[in-house]
Amino acid sequence: MRKVSLNTQILLGAVIGIALGSGLSGLGPASEITQSGMYVAKLIGTLFIDLLRMILIPLVFTSIVVGVSNLRAHQKMSRVWQLTLLYFFATMSLALVLGLTAANLFQPGGGMQMAMFQDAMQSFQVVQMSLGDFFAQFLRSLFQNPIAALAQGNVLAVVIFAILLGIALVIGGERYRNILALMQEFLEVILMLVGWIMRLAPLGIMALLLQLVVAQDVQLLSTMVQFVALVMGITLLHGIVVLPSILYLATGMTPLKFWRGSREALITAVATSSSAATLPVTLRCAEQHLHVKRDVAGFVIPLGATMNMDGTALYEAIAALFVANLVGIELTFAQQLIVFLTAMLAAIGAPGIPSAGMVTMVVVLQSVGLPVEAIAILMPVDRLLDTFRTMVNVEGDMVGSLVVQKWTSPPLSGDN
Ligand code: ASP
Repeated sequence: MRKVSLNTQILLGAVIGIALGSGLSGLGPASEITQSGMYVAKLIGTLFIDLLRMILIPLVFTSIVVGVSNLRAHQKMSRVWQLTLLYFFATMSLALVLGLTAANLFQPGGGMQMAMFQDAMQSFQVVQMSLGDFFAQFLRSLFQNPIAALAQGNVLAVVIFAILLGIALVIGGERYRNILALMQEFLEVILMLVGWIMRLAPLGIMALLLQLVVAQDVQLLSTMVQFVALVMGITLLHGIVVLPSILYLATGMTPLKFWRGSREALITAVATSSSAATLPVTLRCAEQHLHVKRDVAGFVIPLGATMNMDGTALYEAIAALFVANLVGIELTFAQQLIVFLTAMLAAIGAPGIPSAGMVTMVVVLQSVGLPVEAIAILMPVDRLLDTFRTMVNVEGDMVGSLVVQKWTSPPLSGDN
């Protein structure tokens, strides 16, 4: 019998997970079968995420050090840097414009009132955070004792330290070749472990999706249906039309080819709702299936997983306008511009973990004087929306690595 590829197994796992989940929901939450099913699914799903998290920090660290030091020539390095940041800001801006335009057109929450959600809001504790505080906190999280950052799993601080170390290795050249060789070997062995973990991915994804389907509160969803549909629709529009068009225009790669190469990562993103947990899979897809060179992928993807979040930016903008409609405030153009800027900052600052975007949402709401307690209204539907926005966040990183590789490819292939 022909061996079924891992890619297909993952897709099958996802389909079976959703089907089993729907079956169990049909039996009702009180049924013994549902409860035991959920118990097992939770155990398997959590173990899978634990495995990905286990490998995340060593992978980010080594892949960035090796990536940066492979971009040897100084010029090449700064070109990759600049293009990566340009791509991140440009695509997040596009996502935000799309979100704001759609929210202005469809006015989600127009007919509803805040009072409907009084109960939810009363049980909610607000953490006040001004824009200045948020920005300062973000800046301070960039530089940390590397050992502490590695131990605490602070991805952004690890990324920054690894970039600096990579640059030092480049400048030191021959003198530090042993450290570089060690890092290269370390990266290879970590990638081997990633390969082993991925064999479990079909099962892990099946378990995570099963849980997600069973835990969905359909009744609550129906009260928020307009908002949920708008966020999902626009997120998918960005993921299915905007990003693939950018990819096609910049590199000539067709959406189908991209989908085939990126499928493992996209499905893992949906199942885990975490760009960080998905990172090992994203990096693998970019290098092995989409053929992005290790030095470019090793730099763009880990940085993108913490900074580049199109789905989150788009969500925060729509959600802010939704809350404004609920309280009956119409935001002026200038206020929407503030939403644009703070939502971008909030998306960059959000770590790649489940519901991170909800937490940084506080900053966006406060910046235009909207009630922060409204987050309590968004919370119940966040689990569902997080799946799609994380998928688009991860997709953006892979598209970015392909685009940056293309734009830098003549000088890169010149000296390789
Ligand atoms: N879960 C998202 C991610 O990991 C972040 C968010 O909550 O928006 O990409």
